Amino acid sequence: MKQDRAIRTAKDLVAAGLLDAARRDEAEAVAKQYAIAITPTVAGLIERDDPNDPIARQFVPDIAELSVTPEERADPIGDLAHSPVEGIVHRYPDRVLLKAVHVCPVYCRFCFRREMVGPEGLGTLAPEAMDAAISYIAAHPEIWEVILTGGDPLVLSARRLAEMMVRLKDIAHVKIVRFHSRVPVVEPERVDDKLVAALKASGKTTYVALHANHPRELTPAARAAAGRLVDAGVVMLSQSVLLRGINDDPAVLAELMRGFVEMRVKPYYLHHPDLAPGTAHFRLSIAEGQALVKSLRGRVSGLCQPTYVLDIPGGYGKAPIAASNVEATGDDSYAVSDWQGGVHQYPPAGSY
Ligand code: SF4
Repeated sequence: MKQDRAIRTAKDLVAAGLLDAARRDEAEAVAKQYAIAITPTVAGLIERDDPNDPIARQFVPDIAELSVTPEERADPIGDLAHSPVEGIVHRYPDRVLLKAVHVCPVYCRFCFRREMVGPEGLGTLAPEAMDAAISYIAAHPEIWEVILTGGDPLVLSARRLAEMMVRLKDIAHVKIVRFHSRVPVVEPERVDDKLVAALKASGKTTYVALHANHPRELTPAARAAAGRLVDAGVVMLSQSVLLRGINDDPAVLAELMRGFVEMRVKPYYLHHPDLAPGTAHFRLSIAEGQALVKSLRGRVSGLCQPTYVLDIPGGYGKAPIAASNVEATGDDSYAVSDWQGGVHQYPPAGSY
């Protein structure tokens, strides 16, 4: 049965058949700390009979979320250390994050900003704070790209998005506006003509980075929503998080990346999971991640290869962490490994 509204409580999870009634108290305890939201589309994707369903694992709360390990931290990627004014994160010289809103259509159980998002989170930027954030961007000519994230900026109305784009349009040095969103997958009907038009502004190139982690999320409706964006001239990229029990399998990753490419969404980042509180059950080791990423090399086209990255805890930015295929062997020579594990010598410069 298709839900007609988002599920937001443990009681609703039980009523929808997504949670065993015996686990309701546990889910209520988790919900006191971290918000729950599951859209009707996502609820419809969950296989109720599968206790390890990879969609359920992403959105249905688990008591393991209340076990915090010593290395986990409330602000795992160090946003706050780089926030000169409310709503702005300026970590790299040529780009800023603009966090206009801290609500999402779904709440991912592994969210890296889980302490900031949700109804009890940092909320939506007040008009004065938005003015200050826009003024900050206007006053920094080195800012070439503005990345709208949060929260999920596509929960804002088309009118509010269009207003924001008009304000950015007037800042000549901003050339790229990028939206990070799960909406085309979890609430595809939201991506209508009005919303698509609102994301565009003359003189700016609009990107949408789509967050999805399992190929079952790439439904016909999600593909159609992405199609509406791409047909309108929006460039689309993917972002996925490598998650234990969800996509830590070469075949699943390959199908996910191929699905993106079929949708005209270029695989961009595969994130190693961040040290967000209560998410240890999702994390694999970097060595496991490297092996999975290596397995994609020969398995799928170069178009389907994302960059495997780690946000270095503490706010030091992203680092690509895939295992290297090249090793210096002295005298400016190198040993280069191919996708089947063969190793080949490459000669020093000037010797060929
Ligand atoms: S959509 Fe993004 S910001 Fe929102 S809960 Fe999921 S990971 Fe966090």
